[in-house]
Order: sequence, then structure tokens, then C-alpha cells
Amino acid sequence: MYALAIHGGAGALPRVPFTAAREHAYRHGLMQALSAGQRLLERGGCALDAVEAAVTVLEDDPLFNAGRGAVLTADGSVELDAAIMDGCDLRAGAVAQLRHLRNPVQLARRILEDAAHVFLVGDGAERFAVEAGFALVDNGDLITPDRREQWQALEDQLTRTGAASGTQALALDQPPLGTVGAVARDHGGRLAAATSTGGTAGKRSGRIGDSPVIGAGTYADNRSCAVSTTGHGEWFLRTVQAFDIVARMRYGGYRLDAAVSEAIMRRLPDLGAAGGLIAVDHHGEIAIGHNTPIMFRASVREGEAASTAIY
Ligand code: ASP
Repeated sequence: MYALAIHGGAGALPRVPFTAAREHAYRHGLMQALSAGQRLLERGGCALDAVEAAVTVLEDDPLFNAGRGAVLTADGSVELDAAIMDGCDLRAGAVAQLRHLRNPVQLARRILEDAAHVFLVGDGAERFAVEAGFALVDNGDLITPDRREQWQALEDQLTRTGAASGTQALALDQPPLGTVGAVARDHGGRLAAATSTGGTAGKRSGRIGDSPVIGAGTYADNRSCAVSTTGHGEWFLRTVQAFDIVARMRYGGYRLDAAVSEAIMRRLPDLGAAGGLIAVDHHGEIAIGHNTPIMFRASVREGEAASTAIY
């Protein structure tokens, strides 16, 4: 049996409630991504291909904070992070601070396959991308008018309040929304996870969150589960959140849903951390948890109807 879950970020309710059309667009985007992964799993494809396909669709959708449409740094540009992991043999690929790639998850996959390294950042990662045949784009091509407007609003707020520590301080009281991720179990019982993001709005250039860090935002191990997180990355880095779920199952005997709810409903709130995660275990059970008002998410299991949810 196969199982697939995806997310499009967790965060606060928007100041202006979503219109029906916007909510529909989010659900449509989630369904497109879910279907891309599901089609592969149905045909006997592997979990790794399914999570890469689903995340690629979400990166291409400008509504989400990944690929084109990602949030901007304090200095008004896009810096992208992503990771992918194969639960079969713990191979992993990760990238950060990419400024010229449309689909960071595909570069992360290439690093995974290349196997010489796990994590490449910045210029070095982009040089590897060119050698591997990826096309580079202008940073401006990754910026949408909506994100430019959001950045301007943060800048204006900064000027009004005279906040000393930059837009990052303002961004931190607005939990981010729109990071994307996927976890899958395929027919062969293989697990995989992938996550991709522009990080937090107004972040300091050079900041790397949890998403591309193996064990923090992304992890997969066939013996337990595959996990992709979303929320304030600083906390997920500190709690090594994705691996924490795996470890609870492997060493603590937790079931997947108990491990997820312990982390999301107890440990993270105790620390003041907001966010959510998706996970799938080796039996194909899916668990999704969030302690934020919103988490864009969708899932499907073999023989069951696909579903999407926001609130
Ligand atoms: N976790 C991501 C980061 O901190 C942001 C998000 O999930 O929205 O970079």
C-alpha cells in the first residue's frame, strides 16, 4: 500500500481572511502536487521520486514559499533551501542559500544521487548545479509582485516602529506560511521525505532554517518514519525535530501519532514554538500535527480518497 502526505506551510490566520477564490487556489495547488506524487506511486514508482515530484509542483506554484514565489530576505532578494532523504539507506541531499535555481529540491536530489556530499550551500551549490546541467535564472525571476509587496509592507512597518534589529524581528511575530514538503511510503515499503522553502520573511541574508538540515526539518528512515516540518525553523533546529519523531519511534516505542502529538502539542508549545509537521510510517500510517491556526496540507492512501485541509 502506498501513502503520501504533503504540506504547504503552517502559520497564523491572515490579517485579511482568505477569499473563497484564494482558498480554492491553495487547495487546487495542493491537489496538483498530491496528484503528481500519487501518479508515480500508483504505477509502482518509488517514494523518493514521489516526494520530489510533489515538491517540484509546489515550488512551481507561486502561492507557496518555495521556488518562485518564495519570501524575500531583509535586503529584498530570494534565498532558497531544500532537502530530500531516502529512508532505504539514509542517503540525503540538501542545499541552502540558492539564489538562482527554480527547483532546489531537484538539485538536492542530484546531490543525493551524486553521493559525494550531503549539503551544499550558496555559490558552491550553484556551481555544482551548472556542472550538473541545471539552468540558472535571475534572482528577480524568482520574485513575485505579491512577495515584493509583502517585503515593502515589512520595510514600512520597520520604518514606522524604528525596530532596531531589522525586518527579521518583525517577521518573527508573523509565523511563516508556505514552506512546502512531502513524505511518502511506496508499494515496496520505502519511505522518503523532502522539504523546500524560502525561509522566513525578512530573514537576514545567510540565515539557514531547519528545512534543509537533515534531522531538523527533513528525515526518513524505513525502520520508523519519514518527516517534513514547517514553522519557525530556529526552534526545529534546536529540537532536531524531524529526527526527534524518528527517535521516539525507534528508541522509545512510540506509535507515529503519539510521537507527532507529543512533539507538536506538548514539547514545541512548552518552548514557545509554533509550527507543524507531516509524517508517514513504515505501515503507511499518516500523522499530521500543527499547533498553529493554519496548516496547508493534503494526503492520500491507496484505496482512499485524497483530502486537503487548511484550518
Ligand atoms: N521552517 C522554515 C524556516 O524556518 C519556514 C517555514 O516552515 O515556514 O526556514
